[in-house]
Amino acid sequence: MRKKIVAGNWKMNKNLAETNALLSDLKTKISSSSKAEIIVAPTFVNLSNAVEKLEGTEVKVAAQNMHQAENGAFTGEISADMLKGIGVETVILGHSERRAYFGETDQLLVDKVDTALKHNMSVIFCFGEELQDRKSDNHFSVVESQLQNGLFHINSESWDSIVLAYEPVWAIGTGETASPEQAQEMHAFIRNTIAKAYTQDIADKVSILYGGSVKPNNAEEIFAKQDVDGGLIGGASLDVDSFVAIASAV
Ligand code: PEP
Repeated sequence: MRKKIVAGNWKMNKNLAETNALLSDLKTKISSSSKAEIIVAPTFVNLSNAVEKLEGTEVKVAAQNMHQAENGAFTGEISADMLKGIGVETVILGHSERRAYFGETDQLLVDKVDTALKHNMSVIFCFGEELQDRKSDNHFSVVESQLQNGLFHINSESWDSIVLAYEPVWAIGTGETASPEQAQEMHAFIRNTIAKAYTQDIADKVSILYGGSVKPNNAEEIFAKQDVDGGLIGGASLDVDSFVAIASAV
């Protein structure tokens, strides 16, 4: 059976004191009976602290990004080795904000994915179409090309380390959510695309999360869809009660 996952991307929010408050609240309120694996992604400077605070719990810690190089003269950047060194085993790559504001291309993501896999890290690989793509009915071809150009170079074994996050850009932080039917339609398309490029078995095993304005009041119907295996949550993950409610909706 595929793993259900609810991951919170805290983006550039929460200083150390606020992070600690959020983590201890989360530790108290998260139910061990949640059917989902829970992941939180604080900002780089608070990752170490989060790993320490969450030790002994089932909650995993992910980075929101990393550099593709092993090390060297890349001022301001963080490597896979540095993340692993503090106990971070998962990294979010290809988030639409990285693509839009930091110029991350499919080719760059190939390198980042390869580096993460080389370091035995799990990757939450994000992708999704923009509003104009959907309006012009190009959303399937955009998603297909993001997968083909950014991810489909990996070998079959590496799929064990991949989680996909379909995040239509028009739904991120906008309050506008894809309908459960739109999410299911795209997730089924993604699974089928993987089955064609690899095998049905790989396609059936990979968890595909939905991201884009998931809130406690819409999580259940989205997560109920057959090919939706949980969510990548932005805004609502900053409020522990909302995040816990979303995690319980899986
Ligand atoms: C995200 O940034 O990955 C995201 C899904 O954000 P939000 O939930 O705020 O739309």
